[in-house]
Amino acid sequence: MTGQVNDPVKEVESAREAFEREFERFARFTSEAGGGLSSLKDAESELRGLAELRVRHAGKKSAIAAAKKLIGRVPAEQRASFGQLVQTAEAHITDSVNAAELALKTFIETARTARESIDVTIPGRRPRAGHLHPITLMRQRIEDIFVSLGYAVEDDREIETDFYNFDALNIPEGHPARDPQDTFYTTQGHALRSQTSTVQIHAMQRRGAPVRMIAPGRVFRRDTPDPTHNPMFYQVEGLCVDRGITMAHLKGTLAEFVHRLFGPETRTRFRPSYFPFTEPSAEVDYSCFNCSGDGCRICKWSGWIELGGSGMVHPNVLRAAHVDPEEFTGFAFGLGIDRTCARIYELDDIRLLFENDVRFLEQFR
Ligand SMILES: [Zn+2]
Repeated sequence: MTGQVNDPVKEVESAREAFEREFERFARFTSEAGGGLSSLKDAESELRGLAELRVRHAGKKSAIAAAKKLIGRVPAEQRASFGQLVQTAEAHITDSVNAAELALKTFIETARTARESIDVTIPGRRPRAGHLHPITLMRQRIEDIFVSLGYAVEDDREIETDFYNFDALNIPEGHPARDPQDTFYTTQGHALRSQTSTVQIHAMQRRGAPVRMIAPGRVFRRDTPDPTHNPMFYQVEGLCVDRGITMAHLKGTLAEFVHRLFGPETRTRFRPSYFPFTEPSAEVDYSCFNCSGDGCRICKWSGWIELGGSGMVHPNVLRAAHVDPEEFTGFAFGLGIDRTCARIYELDDIRLLFENDVRFLEQFR
């Protein structure tokens, strides 16, 4: 016999030993604890390593495949037992690799499911809840009071013509009252409204008399910003036009308004004044909501706080709005929303209301 081979039994045994040495690190995966796999990536890499091991020890070019070929060449009396030995060794290798592969695939599947699943029991992330601006809150309180008194809330444009901002309000060109009400103009001669009285003219032209309305909104003046001035601020103006309306109605309405806004013990007082669009005109004060008139820091020790201007609508204003002053009379008033806001919240600087600093605004939720 030529080509003397090594002892075939030893060949099989060394093949099996070589497998055992390499398989040792994969054997742990079949244990209960999963062999200390830490991550999905880790397990996927081990699975690739195991596939390579299978090729090396059970593939066509493996030592076991070579041993199989020797079965026919061993002496006949040893053939059966040698065949058995090869078969057992091959089965051991295949079973071991299969078991480790199953364990790895199970781990990978579980890890993938966990990664892709959503825990529906985790509380959701709530969007940060905002709240209304203190000026809006104040405007809404004022609107609620007048709506309950039968007033409509009117809104209109912020960019006006000279006619609505001045002429219709009895402030003709060259009138000295245009100065303190000076505003911003576009190159086409339009003006940012310097008071919401413009809304009253529009409303009267549209609806005629009688009318009862308030106009809250933004107005603009050519003011340099300081603690008590801002070139943009909020106003609410009121208008009541009907047959037989007198100054008494004005006083009764504003007295009721301050009762509802500051409390029933609040008193009002009217001081003669001048506005081009009302005749007679009066400044309105109310007794301090903090000290009830005794004098404190808020009312600057006078006991009174200025509410705004008021008066009986000038006949020229009614005429501009096509309302007959022989048949109808009316009163009008205006007050600053942000100023009232600043008083109530004791703000030293009115500009705080427009800086949009959340730390400041959050105090008024
Ligand atoms: Zn006071």
